[in-house]
Amino acid sequence: MANIAFIGLGTMGRPMAKVLQAAGHDVLGMDISAEMRAMFDGAVEPTAAAIAEAEIIVTMLPEGRHVAKVHAEVVHAGAASSALLIDCSTIDVDTARDLAAQAKSKDLMMLDAPVSGGPTGAEAGSLSFMVGGADEAFARAKPVLEAMGAKITFFGPAGSGQAAKACHNMICGITAMAVMEGFALADALQLDLHKFYALCAGAAAQSWTLENRCPIPGVVPAAPSSNAFAPGFASALMAKDLRLAQAAATSTGQITPFGAEAARAFTEFARMDGNLDFSAIYKTLRALPDEAQD
Ligand code: NAD
Repeated sequence: MANIAFIGLGTMGRPMAKVLQAAGHDVLGMDISAEMRAMFDGAVEPTAAAIAEAEIIVTMLPEGRHVAKVHAEVVHAGAASSALLIDCSTIDVDTARDLAAQAKSKDLMMLDAPVSGGPTGAEAGSLSFMVGGADEAFARAKPVLEAMGAKITFFGPAGSGQAAKACHNMICGITAMAVMEGFALADALQLDLHKFYALCAGAAAQSWTLENRCPIPGVVPAAPSSNAFAPGFASALMAKDLRLAQAAATSTGQITPFGAEAARAFTEFARMDGNLDFSAIYKTLRALPDEAQD
């Protein structure tokens, strides 16, 4: 069992660190927030001295700039030369590649390993990991990733975990726009939306988003729309992931017109209703009256 420093004990990091503890690892939790530290036994402020003993250093932080700061101020200042760095945050591909190159220049192994599955998957240890980095680093990390996740896909070169996550979530964002628009038009045409859902679910319009994020309350009882659009996956996180995909598109010169429109629409929606599930963007397409939204 490994000696693990886990930096970032927020919505995702805290349950992930707890799952590692439950699997028998020796986990020292770290966060800059005293409020977050109070919710994890024995947690400390992240310092170079505090991570000196760690064999594995996991980061689960909001954005690339936070991971870069922690690497510069804590990890590179204090990590043992044999330490393995695993960044599970969702960050831009270019920063992930830069951080991997910086780690390599210090003889540290690093993996980018963003996740999908949300807080529920984190608590259950059933996250899906998309991993980039060297084969040797992946072989060392695998038992730790397997404790936190049910599906682990190794893509190879540094940054490719983040690349896979950005492309995957861009497909989800574009699909979400398609499903929401289809239902908005079906409603405007006064179709029976229960029958329309059943038609789509059994035909070529079927998708994960359709079956899990149908925007019509009551059609899919377990969908966020049937629970006042409580997340699920918050529209602010969808907007963030779509912007990361756009950063990757710009960086590579690849055109992604539907991805660009989804990024624009979700960013605008998240400014108003960032805490609602992403399927709530339906409201902006179909102008639902207030009482139907609550
Ligand atoms: P969060 O904001 O709840 O938690 C982030 C934690 O990092 C906070 O506790 C914060 O205090 C801490 N932090 C910030 N800067 C720090 C620093 N310099 N040193 C130490 N701690 C610091 O975020 P989250 O929802 O847990 O998400 C974490 C990452 O996982 C993000 O990149 C997010 O996009 C990704 N993600 C989130 C979800 C989700 O459903 N929440 C799902 C998949 C992926």
